[in-house]
Amino acid sequence: LFVVLEGADGSGKSTQVTAVAAALSAAGREILVTREPGGSDVAETLRTLVLDPATDIDDMTETLIFAAARSDHIAKTIAPALAGGKIVISDRFVGSSIAYQSAGRGVSEEAVADINRYATGGMTPDVTVVLDLDEAVAGTRRDDRGQLVDRMESAPDGFQDAVRASFLHQAEAAPQRHLVLDAAQPSETITAQILTHLKTQHGV
Ligand code: C5P
Repeated sequence: LFVVLEGADGSGKSTQVTAVAAALSAAGREILVTREPGGSDVAETLRTLVLDPATDIDDMTETLIFAAARSDHIAKTIAPALAGGKIVISDRFVGSSIAYQSAGRGVSEEAVADINRYATGGMTPDVTVVLDLDEAVAGTRRDDRGQLVDRMESAPDGFQDAVRASFLHQAEAAPQRHLVLDAAQPSETITAQILTHLKTQHGV
C-alpha cells in the first residue's frame, strides 16, 4: 500500500507521518517512511540543491529536478519496499509538484503531469491524505518553528493560497484516492482519522 501525505509547510505532515507509522508498526505492519524531495541518495542531494536559498533556479528546471529526484526515489526506495510487501508512507509526492510547480510557479499543469508520468512510470498513491489548513495558521506555525526559511518558503504573496487550492482541487478531481482532513484539529484526532480511513478503505 502506498500512502502519501500532502499539505502546506506547517500543516503537520511530518508529525502525522511519524504518528501513523508508529501506530501501524505497533500493530505489526512493516512500514517504510520516506519523504520528498529526497528519500534516496541522489534525491537528497537534489533536495539540498533545490531548497538552497542561494540557488536561483528557472521554474521548468525546478520542475525537472523534482521529477528527477522522484524517479530515483521510486527506483531506489519506494518500488523495492512495495515489492517487499511494505506499507510505504511518503511525506509529499507528485501532488506537491502539481501544487508548487504548476499552481504556485505557473508551469503548465499538463507539462508537470506529463513530466511526472515519465518520472513515476505511472505509479499512483493508493491514498493521498491532504492536510488542509488556512494559510494564516500554517504561516504562523512556520514562523513559530523558527527554522531557516528555505527557497520555497520565501515565495511571493498568494503562492501558498494557490498551493492550498491546488491540493483541494486535486482531491476533488479524484475523491476515491484522496482523504481531505482539517489540519487545525488536534494532532491525535487527525492521526485517528487517517488510521480509521486506512482500516475501513484499505484493510490495514
Ligand atoms: O515538506 P518539506 O518541508 O520537506 O518540503 C520542502 C520544501 O520544498 C517546502 O518548502 C515545499 O514547499 C517545497 N516543495 C516544492 N515543490 C515540491 C515539493 C516540495 O516547492 N514538489
